[in-house]
Amino acid sequence: MIIDYHMHLRDRPGGEARGRYGADRAEEYVEQARASGVDEIGFTDHVFHFRQSLALWEIEWMRERCTDDLDEYVAAVEEAKGRGLPVKLGLEVDYFPGIERGLAELLAPYPWDYLLGSVHWIDGHAVDSAPDRGIWAEAAVEEVWCRYFAALTELASSGHVDVLAHPDLAKIFGFRPEAIDYPPLDGVALEISTNGRYKPVGELYPDPAFLEAVKAPITLASDAHVPANVGRDFGQAVELARAAGYETVTVFEGRRARQEPLG
Ligand SMILES: [Zn+2]
Ligand SMILES: [Zn+2]
Repeated sequence: MIIDYHMHLRDRPGGEARGRYGADRAEEYVEQARASGVDEIGFTDHVFHFRQSLALWEIEWMRERCTDDLDEYVAAVEEAKGRGLPVKLGLEVDYFPGIERGLAELLAPYPWDYLLGSVHWIDGHAVDSAPDRGIWAEAAVEEVWCRYFAALTELASSGHVDVLAHPDLAKIFGFRPEAIDYPPLDGVALEISTNGRYKPVGELYPDPAFLEAVKAPITLASDAHVPANVGRDFGQAVELARAAGYETVTVFEGRRARQEPLG
């Protein structure tokens, strides 16, 4: 089985600030999945795009983006499911220490299949905005990685998410410490994301050494923001997984995981 468990359904017709979500657009992602040999896809739009999450954020950049309706998003994916399409309902949860309780209250009413956790910010500084801004302007490379992994470990052990997105995002600009100490991560799956190929680092997330060190179950991910990118470069994702000894992928339903043969 081939799954693509990271993509964004959000559409901005005519460049409108507010994103829209619909089952017809979900169907376009499914069509591309079929063409790319992907059996099942999962939508994981960013939690900070939904106005229901506004109270969780302190960063202005995020507060300005809380424009969409979470109910509209969930309804779109549920309608796609109702049409018999192989889609799952997920969400990309941008993690900050201290938001746990508000986050749990926000997410509890919805029938998530899985929640994807990501660390894009460290103490209010962006990890992936630019190589000379955000956290990179604040701290040395070694310290950035150390703090990034500390946040990732906290997220993994929070119980709030099922999968860690782009687990070694800190390599995005190609800055790496001399030696990397991968953190032990229990109770979560790691995604193998082909999106890193299109970032300055030009590689899949995560490094094979990360998979070997952590030995967590895996999902596959394109991080597509448009239908055309669903399943992009998945030959390489499968190759990376197999090289690291994986024979199964993780499939989620109602936040319960099971393993299915990879391929
Ligand atoms: Zn992300
Ligand atoms: Zn994403």
